[in-house]
Amino acid sequence: MSDSNFKNGPIRRRGIMLILSSPSGAGKSTITRDLLLDKSLDLTLSISVTTRPRRSSEVDGIHYHFKTKQEFERLRVSDDLLEWAEVHGNFYGTPRSIVEDKIEQGKDVIFDIDWQGTQQVRKKAPKDVVTIFILPPSMEELRSRLERRAEDAADVIAKRLENARNEIERWKMYDYVVVNDDLQRALGEVKAILIAERVKRTRSQDAIEDYITKLLQG
Ligand code: 5GP
Repeated sequence: MSDSNFKNGPIRRRGIMLILSSPSGAGKSTITRDLLLDKSLDLTLSISVTTRPRRSSEVDGIHYHFKTKQEFERLRVSDDLLEWAEVHGNFYGTPRSIVEDKIEQGKDVIFDIDWQGTQQVRKKAPKDVVTIFILPPSMEELRSRLERRAEDAADVIAKRLENARNEIERWKMYDYVVVNDDLQRALGEVKAILIAERVKRTRSQDAIEDYITKLLQG
């Protein structure tokens, strides 16, 4: 690949796979949305495929690609998914090719996926992955956020709360932990993580060598 394909600074690097996980209701979707709205960050969202029914606020192709179980199975069998998992009784997966293209081009991609998917992506691309676990300020707040959202049926909310404890126990698997008790602070922390990771020496070792060789010749 030629240097001109990299548009992310004077020192070329591969894109980062920035994975955000949390129990539902911890505010991860809001953080993700705000990161995407900040154009200076130049992030691309990985849009998952899912067999979950669409919520009234969701748009097919923007929030998810909504699929039947058969369609999902076809993608899975043909190895078109970078990772996939069953979460709260539905299937979710990450389309592979778009993510791989972006990362090759040096573009950073943000993922909103669970701990099972995080484990799979980390195994496949250990050097490209940065993982952040978002925690709610309290279990009470988690419950009230899920109820306030009022888009899921009571039994679905109950199931998500039950699963939350299991998900929270996975925190040790993540590189960073951010508590979302104050959205602006949490958002600032996630941005700081991304910006620092972009200039990490080990991410661009060869490119830094080249840069310094040229620099010292000048
Ligand atoms: P929701 O149904 O609330 O949109 O998402 C439920 C859970 O599924 C969230 O924890 C979310 O991060 C996770 N999820 C969404 N897309 C994917 C995916 O492509 N892969 C995996 N492994 N989990 C996902």
